[in-house]
Amino acid sequence: MTGHTEDHGIDVDVLVIGAGVVGIYALHRAVTEGFSAMALEAGDGVGGVWYWNRYPAARFDSESYSYGYIHDKDLFDSWKWKEEFATQPEIEQYLNFVVDRYALRDSIQTGERVISAVYDEVASRWTVATESGREVRARWVISATGGLSVPHYPELEGLDDFSGLAYHTGAWPHEPLDFTGKRVAIIGNGPSGAQLLPAIVDTVERVDLYQRTPTWTTPLNNALMDDEKRAWLSENWEDVTRTLSTSPSGFLHPFSGKVASDHTPEQRQEFFESMWQAPGFGKLTMNYHDMTTNREVNREFCEFIAGKVRAIVTDPVTAERLIPTDHLFGAKRPPFVADYYESFNKPTASLISLRETPIVRVDATGIETTDGHREYDIIVYATGFDFGTGALTRMGVKGRNGLDLSTDWEDGPSDFGGFAAHDLPNFFFPGGPHGAGGGNYPRYSQFQVDFIVNTIVYAREHSFDTFEPTAEQEQGWMGMIEELAPRSIFSAEHSHYYGANVQGKARKFLLNPGGRQGLANILTEMTSTEDYSGALSTAHALAGRA
Ligand code: NAP
Repeated sequence: MTGHTEDHGIDVDVLVIGAGVVGIYALHRAVTEGFSAMALEAGDGVGGVWYWNRYPAARFDSESYSYGYIHDKDLFDSWKWKEEFATQPEIEQYLNFVVDRYALRDSIQTGERVISAVYDEVASRWTVATESGREVRARWVISATGGLSVPHYPELEGLDDFSGLAYHTGAWPHEPLDFTGKRVAIIGNGPSGAQLLPAIVDTVERVDLYQRTPTWTTPLNNALMDDEKRAWLSENWEDVTRTLSTSPSGFLHPFSGKVASDHTPEQRQEFFESMWQAPGFGKLTMNYHDMTTNREVNREFCEFIAGKVRAIVTDPVTAERLIPTDHLFGAKRPPFVADYYESFNKPTASLISLRETPIVRVDATGIETTDGHREYDIIVYATGFDFGTGALTRMGVKGRNGLDLSTDWEDGPSDFGGFAAHDLPNFFFPGGPHGAGGGNYPRYSQFQVDFIVNTIVYAREHSFDTFEPTAEQEQGWMGMIEELAPRSIFSAEHSHYYGANVQGKARKFLLNPGGRQGLANILTEMTSTEDYSGALSTAHALAGRA
């Protein structure tokens, strides 16, 4: 490991918190630039969400080669993805492969959950402490703690009384969990619950899916990767990476180049059928251009999907319950999952609508709803995460001028570029709130990490001690968020993108509605003109700031 000893008083240039997709990349970049660097990771292994979310059938719904690292052609060519949309075990193996290939293993301390990060203004250093008592001092902190790393459990009476097995999809056990012949409840039908149901429906005695809000779930349309596809990707790596790095959502999907009115109603049905057959997020990115801006076009696509649900699900009551009535396609993050609707035709599966029969309580043997009591061996909470801010506000982050992040963000996060904030000098959080605009997350975060590492390299070369967005920069960015949030495609205010799934959490938009290009324009302007508008300074200058 570069620049640290095994005792408690470690001192490094760059401390990365979290060894998931983003943290591994940040550590690699920092080490490559010659900084002494290390990472602290709460899990006992690397992978972040791909370490914790190991429930059956957990997999990418972005294409594997688009989601994985794309900056290094040798690495890109070295991993032979088995499927267009890889499963969790392969993803975890891939991330371990990357860690070893870049010789990062010794620089990552696993099993170390950060509980405090305090800025010392005099020394311009962060002191970061973990639950186990480890302490690390660093000039620069990159908190790659992710937006989906704090599982959210529903506020249900008797949750702890259940005497069977209960797991959250985001904190899944390492030991194999045998569903054979078991009575199972899945609470939640977002992408996690929707992936789990078809994976277990044939082995359980029975599985009940507890649904609060129906989702516009469409098939993933996965396929095996073959050598021909791999060769094409390798030969076209430059174009592929350019597209992935510049397209609005970070996918290779070709645009349709059409609006709905270019087609007759019959042609639109054919086109929607081709969308139904399209891979993953293609239903959003390859659809009519006005599908996300024209409610009538979106409604027509929703009717098409509703028709599919009615055709697939044999019980008409269940089919109607599965069709959303309160949001259009894409307004909530849609799941892309094979065989979801088909699962409800199996004799082992039932849908329980919490709108009609809410949960009264959990007890020792099962779940009581307003229409009766059902017994279970296993309850799965597929109830999502404290999205965007959950990890950052739980780490005891204390910056300049008495800033305590957990209280400062009580009314919603305030930041610059979704990765830094005023009064948090040298503290970066790529992949944080207001960073990604939806789509393929690693492509947003890679861009942020590159800016962060390039900036600290620039600071080293030009004798700056600190990077801290000015209050004006933060206000400018937040003004954009507030102005454009209502226009975002993910506009359903009852979704986790507004913090609505966590009781008591501020209802504030947590994505970047300006999209990747808007952020890229701001950051590229800074680096190309070397004008950071006061964000870079010496410690001496900083001490005089309000
Ligand atoms: P989610 O999308 O937030 O869905 C949570 C589900 O739990 C929703 O159906 C929600 O209902 C329900 N729920 C929450 N609290 C509840 C309560 N108190 N009572 C009853 N139901 C409750 O969570 P997720 O499925 O874990 O997905 C989270 C994110 O992870 C996704 O947006 C995606 O970015 C990512 N993900 C990706 C993949 C992939 O394929 N790569 C797979 C899984 C997850 P309401 O809708 O009514 O709130």
